Amino acid sequence: MTEEVIEADVLCVGGGIAGLMAAIRAGESGATVVVVEKGNARYSGCGRSGNDHFEAYIPEVHGPDIDGFIEELLKTAKGEILLGRNIFQTQFARAFGIVKLWDEWGIPMKYQGGWEFAGHSFPGRTMTHIKYEGRFQKEVLIKQAKDRGVVILDRVMVVDLLRQGDRVIGALGVHTREEKILLFKAKAVILATGKCSRLYPSLTPGWMFNDPHGGVQSGDGRAMAYRAGVELQNVEMPQRHIGPKYFVKFGQASWIGVVKDPQGEPAGDFVQKPDRRHGDMILEVNKLIAEEYHAAGKGPLYMDCTDISEEDYEYMMHWMEHEGNISLLDHMREEGIDIRRHPIEFSTYPLRAGGLIVANEKAETNLEGLYSAGDESYGDISAAATFGWIAGENAALASQETKSCDIEVERAKIDEMGNSIEQLRMRSQGPDWMETNIALQQVMSDYAGMVRNEALLEQGLNHLKRIREKARGELIARNTHELWRCLEVINLLEIGELLFLMALDRKETRGLHRRPDFPETDPMLDKAHVVHLIDGTPRIEWRSYQGGE
Ligand SMILES: Cc1cc2nc3c(=O)[nH]c(=O)nc-3n(C[C@H](O)[C@H](O)[C@H](O)COP(=O)(O)OP(=O)(O)OC[C@H]3O[C@@H](n4cnc5c(N)ncnc54)[C@H](O)[C@@H]3O)c2cc1C
Repeated sequence: MTEEVIEADVLCVGGGIAGLMAAIRAGESGATVVVVEKGNARYSGCGRSGNDHFEAYIPEVHGPDIDGFIEELLKTAKGEILLGRNIFQTQFARAFGIVKLWDEWGIPMKYQGGWEFAGHSFPGRTMTHIKYEGRFQKEVLIKQAKDRGVVILDRVMVVDLLRQGDRVIGALGVHTREEKILLFKAKAVILATGKCSRLYPSLTPGWMFNDPHGGVQSGDGRAMAYRAGVELQNVEMPQRHIGPKYFVKFGQASWIGVVKDPQGEPAGDFVQKPDRRHGDMILEVNKLIAEEYHAAGKGPLYMDCTDISEEDYEYMMHWMEHEGNISLLDHMREEGIDIRRHPIEFSTYPLRAGGLIVANEKAETNLEGLYSAGDESYGDISAAATFGWIAGENAALASQETKSCDIEVERAKIDEMGNSIEQLRMRSQGPDWMETNIALQQVMSDYAGMVRNEALLEQGLNHLKRIREKARGELIARNTHELWRCLEVINLLEIGELLFLMALDRKETRGLHRRPDFPETDPMLDKAHVVHLIDGTPRIEWRSYQGGE
């Protein structure tokens, strides 16, 4: 493996919405900026094929009560995210500024000349989400970044952070197509690596990458942050989603229909006929509803748009195209499925990893020089864009006051990674990344799935430790592609183990963390559950959310 050193004031890890917004802001603040992207920034990340809802508080629309707006928002799926109020307050004080910037840059944020609100809201209540045409948003953001001199490096996976004392001074990466190690020297680093997929099996286990996030986001950011001593939060709290069966798509709020059982009875009380302003909020009130109907012998459930007007149909199709649903629409077209005539079967999707990198309202982590933004800390498009921007702004400022360090202080770590890579590449026999990933998913779903208890979690943790140990000594990478897949799986194993430890420590039932051995929700545990690595050992503690709960 050859080594190449790349230097910048600010290094953005991940070329998704948060990473690009951070880069744009840092670039226009005068910093030299490099974005490192594991895939291709145009086609990677959750924003790659578009989004259509951007939550924003607009004083002239919502009035002066920003807290009331936040309260309303927390009644939607947003409320599942366990965070301090200060984060939401910062987001909604600044998100509208981002909306206006995006509109200026060429991402259409208005519809027919005005702010259009629809979806993710209850009939008769405050509307919180602007509809916007996000299909080509990444092209626009990449252009804005390049216009500010940002360098985007595709096909490089960042693997670990480099530190000097409590300060982050750069990162280590591998090229995904060439036999090359990249050493990044930076005054500030922003982690914007998205969610953690592939920890639990997909709805279609034979198709591991059939995942709403795209499957490439493998919790790298949180794994490398944890190894460097950064705090992670609520790793044990899983998430689930609901949508068209087998397609594992996000975008539930773009459907204009009524969720119904096979007899045509609505499953919820919110709408009786398709309503373009609200959709059917039962999907947000209870994402498990399809699974519950199925288990009770009352399913399947359908998204029934058959009563839709022609005008609303056109409206819905317009937004579905912006919501990254092109492949689903193409498939329906090919198969002669017309939602005006055919109800679409919906299902609850499998568990997804929750948890986040702890970052404050300035996007700072507990390590000097390290910032985190977007799904890796707190996502959806509005949060990714807003906190990406905030991270870029603060990282650029900090870089002005910081001298760059010599990354050779981390030579031992660099060489250690080089050796591990060489071992992975030299072995001719052993499990490959896919076998290991499948084994991991099996253990996660069997032992840390929808039902957890002490004995089950302890047994699962033992299995996982064995898989991890085996992977450490036997994993093989026959080419550069398999190499970065192996490095992803190593990260996933790390997150899996933390999830077990934290699930054991959360002795209560809350949200989708269900423990029949502790069936009550303990009000004393309505706190941030934080883990970090101290002297090679994970330390878990409970802490109040910043800015109140
Ligand atoms: C189909 C779909 C529709 C959605 N619709 C909406 C919507 O309408 N409204 C809304 O609010 N939200 C929506 N979301 C969610 C929203 O898109 C995400 O919350 C947001 O895009 C997250 O941005 P991000 O930059 O944090 O992460 P991502 O966009 O996931 O970007 C992370 C990037 O980091 C890269 N990366 C990961 N690890 C590494 C590494 N080790 N080294 C280098 N690069 C790495 C990845 O390849 C990826 O490009 C939707 C998501 C999907 C999938």
